[in-house]
Amino acid sequence: MAANKKLLVLPGDGIGPEVMREVRRVLDWMSRRRSVSFDIEEGLVGGAAIDAEGHPCPDSTMAKAARADAILFGSVGGPKWDSLPFERRPELGILRLRKDLGLFANLRPAIVWSPLAQASSLKADLVNGLDLMIVRESTGGIYFGEPRGIETMASGMRRAFDTESYTEEEIARVARVAFELARKRQNKLTSVEKANVMQSGRFWRQIVTEVHKAGFADVELSHMYADNCAMQLASRPKQFDVILASNLFGDVLSDLAAAVTGSLGMLPSATLGAPDSSGRRNALYEPIHGSAPDIAGKGVANPCAQILSFAMLLRWSFDMEEDARMLETAVEKVLAGGLRTADIMVPGAARVGTSIMGEAVVRELDKMSA
Ligand code: NAD
Repeated sequence: MAANKKLLVLPGDGIGPEVMREVRRVLDWMSRRRSVSFDIEEGLVGGAAIDAEGHPCPDSTMAKAARADAILFGSVGGPKWDSLPFERRPELGILRLRKDLGLFANLRPAIVWSPLAQASSLKADLVNGLDLMIVRESTGGIYFGEPRGIETMASGMRRAFDTESYTEEEIARVARVAFELARKRQNKLTSVEKANVMQSGRFWRQIVTEVHKAGFADVELSHMYADNCAMQLASRPKQFDVILASNLFGDVLSDLAAAVTGSLGMLPSATLGAPDSSGRRNALYEPIHGSAPDIAGKGVANPCAQILSFAMLLRWSFDMEEDARMLETAVEKVLAGGLRTADIMVPGAARVGTSIMGEAVVRELDKMSA
């Protein structure tokens, strides 16, 4: 097959490069055994980019991003750059990519792999088989709304304020992504807001309902207040299929859902832009964990979230459902076989490091394709 799938790899800082190496192993395997190859470019982001080029996401990286069909991102940040002023911090690297590439829909699955059900903070039977997806709007809302600031009022009292603001198109486009996703899953969407106390919440509910009527009436839609959703996630998470939320509520609820799965090192994510007339969309895939400075360089990080982010990339950017599933199954088989990195270790399992885990995934791929 021609090497026409353009992939930009941005390992970043801390454990980013360590776990990305294991994806490289999978890429090599795919080219050897499945005759699928990618045009791969590598770029700098985060602290590594600050050190080399003085910016957390330099123009050289943005130029590569513009050429790529999909971006696989590692993680950024670390104590070395903690004292930099806010506008030069490594974490701004991901914000520039999201903003400049119009990546407005953040997809965060919360999956409990059967062999890991014991790792959850909830009872195993409440989470065993959990597979839900949170679609979070990621370029609008209160994190970007104006006006914002801290001021001193005439009375001398100080006050702080932010603005939750959404246009109908900002809501509609992320709602469409969520409805389309629901169609490929259990066909159920729960839209979350605070329509009881916020104007922007009432508007959110109204626009989602309009989008539903206009093109997705076949999807089962329900609305839920964000506080109730948090409670339901912590008590009966399996009732959900796809959850749609604003930037703020999605941020909080997706961390809660991740905590329920009990394994940060296992969770991938995708952030998508709008499709163009040919159906192609900008997309970035990354694990939800950070650069884990406390374990960086020790060879003990769990590479599964990065590998599963690559599986999402295969599914969403290249329509390679079979390969994506194969990779996910390989990870599950490795866990079922009893191998564990330190973060998901349980008594009786075999504790392994990053590269042994990556090798084991490739070995399972080998067995499946034999
Ligand atoms: P973190 O996710 O890096 O680490 C939290 C804890 O989980 C740590 O104890 C870490 O060792 C562990 N952990 C994380 N990933 C793991 C893995 N794959 N395998 C095993 N253990 C793992 O979050 P943090 O400590 O709050 O942040 C560290 C740095 O990462 C900060 O600079 C933060 O700003 C940055 N960060 C970056 C991103 C990103 O790049 N998108 C996301 C979150 C945090």
